Amino acid sequence: MGIDCLVLGAGQEVGKSCAVVNINGKRIMFDCGMHMGDPKHPYPDFSRISKTGDFDGALTCIIITHFHLDHVAALPYFTEVCGFRGPIYMTHPTKALAPLMLKDNLKHMINGMGDKEKFTSDDIDSCMEKVIAVDLKQTIRVDEDLEIRAYYAGHVIGAAMFYARVGDASVLYTGDYNMTPDRHLGAAQIDRLPLDLVITESTYGTTIRDSRFAHESEFLKAVHTCVADGGKVLIPTFALGRAQEICILLEDYWERRNLKVPIYFSGGLTIQANMYSKMLISWTSQKVKEAYTNHNAFDFKHVRTFDRSLIHAPGPCVLFATPGWLNTGFSLEVFKQWATSEMNLVTLPGQCIAGTIGQKLMSGKPKKIDLDPETQIDVRCQIHKLAFSPHTDSKGIMDLMKFLSPKHVILVHGEKPKMVKLKGRIESELGIPCYHPANNETVSIPSTHYVRADASASFINTTLCPNFSFKNSASEDKCTSELQICDVRVSEGLLVMQNNNQKPNVIHQDDWSGKTDT
Ligand SMILES: [Zn+2]
Repeated sequence: MGIDCLVLGAGQEVGKSCAVVNINGKRIMFDCGMHMGDPKHPYPDFSRISKTGDFDGALTCIIITHFHLDHVAALPYFTEVCGFRGPIYMTHPTKALAPLMLKDNLKHMINGMGDKEKFTSDDIDSCMEKVIAVDLKQTIRVDEDLEIRAYYAGHVIGAAMFYARVGDASVLYTGDYNMTPDRHLGAAQIDRLPLDLVITESTYGTTIRDSRFAHESEFLKAVHTCVADGGKVLIPTFALGRAQEICILLEDYWERRNLKVPIYFSGGLTIQANMYSKMLISWTSQKVKEAYTNHNAFDFKHVRTFDRSLIHAPGPCVLFATPGWLNTGFSLEVFKQWATSEMNLVTLPGQCIAGTIGQKLMSGKPKKIDLDPETQIDVRCQIHKLAFSPHTDSKGIMDLMKFLSPKHVILVHGEKPKMVKLKGRIESELGIPCYHPANNETVSIPSTHYVRADASASFINTTLCPNFSFKNSASEDKCTSELQICDVRVSEGLLVMQNNNQKPNVIHQDDWSGKTDT
């Protein structure tokens, strides 16, 4: 028995998160994401779980950490097309919001994907009906041997880290998390648990972020300068999470500066999403909760719905449009029109998935972007990279690993060079073995198994005596020496395990003489 972790996605990359973890014979799939920048291989390679397609026999359950597409978008395909019928767990807000994200994605994902890989809006509904919603810190018994528990992860509304235990062996899968509060969410919160393995995201594994306030001001200044000069600002974003966070920021700034420039949300989806944000107020940060009695931070006074005809309308504005990485959909349609003017500004998240237009724009400042063999976009607009993020930075990852002190760490959801550096730090600074498997690789680690044992009277006596040791320590620059007294209190004994099913026994070495029958 032991723990095996098969990484089916987000191994040395960001995209289609999926890890299948076998804990003492129970097999859990953590996340079931889609790769948004790779239409040829959008899903994890599920055949590695079962060659015969008997997924019910091969998996005990699925756990989804949050509603982002790279963590959940392959789920309807796995349940409705591949036919998985076992239990699926996620938090209540994730269950409420994932269908919105999935249905918004449906219209984008059709392009470039094979017929066999498609699923319908009805498939999303019947998939979500199978989901069991859980509360934070609620211990769920999946079966006689497997228990799971969700912990608050920050990041987006409903995001959770999941703990899973089988016998004495236990694992924590973090999903995406944030160790510092942002405009609308609190920081991750978790108990100190005995853990054999932590599987953690490592998106910003080498970045230490300085003041969030400074980065927010930089962003607001870029937006204000652009609209003051008559330009248009495009904020490509996913409907939930980032859109709300940035909007709270802009609303506050518009109010303080008494700005009249319109802020638009594209389509009905974001409006619907804001309705959900209002309903899910108990999941937001303490600050938003406290202020809620006299002002709901999600009641956006300045925001209006965008109409397609406004794309070519004169005058400045700010537009939130989906999807976030400009790979397809309405944000790309608007980008094609607005990118050609120096007056306009496009903001991009700090991390874009490889293969998307967002990622191409971030790697240097290309003058032209090839959309397809026939279409080329002249990129003359300004580009602003958002330096604040809903992911933890490297300090947050190190702090969490130090706090939890698991026996092993596996890094996922990050770029390989960053993982290599972070792995080095976790091993050298914390002394914890750390792995960064590529997709379709398995890491095997031993699991903890506690054995109850009797102890002999003479062994117990040795544990009661202090075990002093004296050390002379002299500092190099001063010629002084100090005497240090340590009580190591380590007792040595022999663990005796007999063949005839008797309980194991810990004895003192003096007890050993004459025991030739064992
Ligand atoms: Zn996420």
